[in-house]
Formats: sequence, C-alpha cells, structure tokens
Amino acid sequence: MAKPRKVRCPQCGGDALWAPENPWRPFCSERCKQIDLGAWASDSYAIAGQVSDDEAGAPGMDFPNTPER
Ligand SMILES: [Zn+2]
Repeated sequence: MAKPRKVRCPQCGGDALWAPENPWRPFCSERCKQIDLGAWASDSYAIAGQVSDDEAGAPGMDFPNTPER
C-alpha cells in the first residue's frame, strides 16, 4: 500500500491529501479547488480578451438583463 502523501493546498496553504480518495488534489477540498479555478478563469479571461479601456464589445460574461423564457 502506498502511503498517503500530503501536499500543500495551493489555495489555503493547508494540508491536502494527495490520494485517489481526494478528487480535489492538489487542493484540500472542493471549495479550494473552485476558488482557484475561478481565479484562474477570470485571469485568463482578462488576458485572452485583451480589452484595454473599452469593454463594450466584451462577449457573453455580463448578466442578462432580460432572461429568456
Ligand atoms: Zn485548501
């Protein structure tokens, strides 16, 4: 049996179990993974968008004013 390894959670800095029973590795929990993915997504979106001053043409990330039914 392999010993369970512990790694440092990149999100909260706590101990995260690096093992098959931790589906969120290298994070310690689902919450930390979600937070990190969210930060990554917004970062890459800002980079990929290459918007400087006007975001008038920014696609798709706004809240819809009129929800379709
Ligand atoms: Zn964590």
